[in-house]
Amino acid sequence: MKILTWEASKKSEQYFKLTWKIAQKATCERSKCWCIIVKDDEIIWQWRNTPPHNLESQRKCTYDKKSYDFKVTDKTCCIHAEQRAIMDALRNHPDKIEGSDLYFVRLDKEWNMSKAWKPYCTICSKMALDTWIKHFLLRHEEWVAQYDTEEYNLLSYQYSE
Ligand SMILES: [Zn+2]
Ligand SMILES: [Zn+2]
Repeated sequence: MKILTWEASKKSEQYFKLTWKIAQKATCERSKCWCIIVKDDEIIWQWRNTPPHNLESQRKCTYDKKSYDFKVTDKTCCIHAEQRAIMDALRNHPDKIEGSDLYFVRLDKEWNMSKAWKPYCTICSKMALDTWIKHFLLRHEEWVAQYDTEEYNLLSYQYSE
């Protein structure tokens, strides 16, 4: 993991600010997230977390995760912003996703950019690595963490609170 300071990464701050502004459009009721995928200074795709196809019939935001059987592999309610952005980037820019950077932002209850957590989502870490995205970027308070996706996937599996 590489730590980028604000000074060293004006560009990443620009992407995080943009992501933060639009994350409010996420329709998940549990958390508001947004993701931008950038290749050679061009945003190749961005998306938010929503129920699959944004279908109300599929909304599980208020379900208790403990109510699912242990065999249910993914107990999160919505399509993750990263999942959706990766799928759409593959569909729309399959030639550009390799070597790209993924910026991820989650909002807190007051709609501010929340401090990033340690990597833990093994669904998105596997998808990012498998599609050859180069970096996963998370914004902390004074700095940005830039992970290689290979490292990000390993760390996600090692997560503990
Ligand atoms: Zn949800
Ligand atoms: Zn995820």
